[in-house]
Amino acid sequence: MECKLTKRWASALFSTFIFLLTACGQQPEAAVSDPVTEALGREAQTLSMDWLEQAMIEADSEELREAIGDVHNLLEERNISAPPASLVATCDSNEGRFTAAFVTDKFANSNIYVCAQSKRLGKIFLAQVLIHEALHLRGERDECEVTRMEIAIMTSALRIPYKNAYVAQCGLD
Ligand SMILES: [Zn+2]
Repeated sequence: MECKLTKRWASALFSTFIFLLTACGQQPEAAVSDPVTEALGREAQTLSMDWLEQAMIEADSEELREAIGDVHNLLEERNISAPPASLVATCDSNEGRFTAAFVTDKFANSNIYVCAQSKRLGKIFLAQVLIHEALHLRGERDECEVTRMEIAIMTSALRIPYKNAYVAQCGLD
């Protein structure tokens, strides 16, 4: 009996120790590990960079060239990761719309977070979404303005853009 009690206490103490170790050892914003999604994010990033280089050659305005340059830099600089635990719910919270990726409104230092469900659509779709998200990171919150630039970039890259949910809503059809 005594031995059992001691064992139980030892076990409880050990659990507490592990809990503290886990709680103290992790950054609060650490990404949830999702190697498959993150690998897809990297493939999509590479593809989007190719498109941006093509788009830069074909762009027909200074405004567009500037946006393409910024988006290219942002996709190179920012981490493209699975969302941290505190932000995972964002993947399912966009008024019933499918969310493949998102940025936080702290544009100056946000990662681009790729949602696990983007695996259902693949890298070509995701590559365009990354361009959309990087346009937000320039400081633009307005979805219609971001979508207008997204389509302009895709068209300059000689791609037929995927129509995101904002296209019809913003009269960009
Ligand atoms: Zn957006």
